[in-house]
Amino acid sequence: METKAEHSREVTGEDLCVYYQTLRSSFGERGWWPAEGWFETIVGAVLAQNVSWNGASQAVQALKDEGLLNPKQILSSPQEIIAAHIKSSRYYNQKAERLQIFARFFLDQYNGDIDRMNREDTNTLRRLLLDLKGFGPETVDSILLYACNKPIFVVDAYTRRIGSRIGWFTRDESYQQMQDYFTSRLKPDSALFNDFHAQIVYLGNSICKTRPQCNSCPLRDMDDRLRCRYIITDDHNIQKGRRKNGT
Ligand code: SF4
Repeated sequence: METKAEHSREVTGEDLCVYYQTLRSSFGERGWWPAEGWFETIVGAVLAQNVSWNGASQAVQALKDEGLLNPKQILSSPQEIIAAHIKSSRYYNQKAERLQIFARFFLDQYNGDIDRMNREDTNTLRRLLLDLKGFGPETVDSILLYACNKPIFVVDAYTRRIGSRIGWFTRDESYQQMQDYFTSRLKPDSALFNDFHAQIVYLGNSICKTRPQCNSCPLRDMDDRLRCRYIITDDHNIQKGRRKNGT
């Protein structure tokens, strides 16, 4: 029986680009991140943790309506006021604290100058952001890619689910291992990384759900070497499909 590791070794950077082009041909360029300006992107990345995008988006809009969507206003406002405006994003007390932590870091470290922050070496900036309380790799990498235009590949729960069904990896890899899977095969390209992640999110949100709708999936129709071979059995269990030659 084929193992996932064997399958993973077969996938090259060119193959990943074919997956990406297949998704893009079906869904079009996704035009991410859905925000006006870099600070809104950062706030969205913080508020989107563990909640649907709708909930995060409503919270961003509430901050915008109150004129709070800038680092100085975030830092100078009482934390409970910020929390009250972002309730739709869940964990609003924690998230209000994190917004203030970022605002303080940004104002202290870069004097509130996004260009200065962007000139920071990518690995250095990533380490500094990861040191902030409550900032995990997905949030930090979303900030680096979508607000700072750094060539960092963002992975998330959709990436894990889709990638393990296709056979890129198992469900056990760490965040770093999944990220390395892409960055070891692809040249650093922020435009590609931006839209590739956005395509994965769209696929995971609309088709490759907990119960996947494989008949509508463009990755089902690829050539036999690359196509997703997962199948759903009659008893509703999802199983890894076999190649046509039975390996
Ligand atoms: S074919 Fe099915 S399991 Fe595979 S990526 Fe598409 S929706 Fe997901």
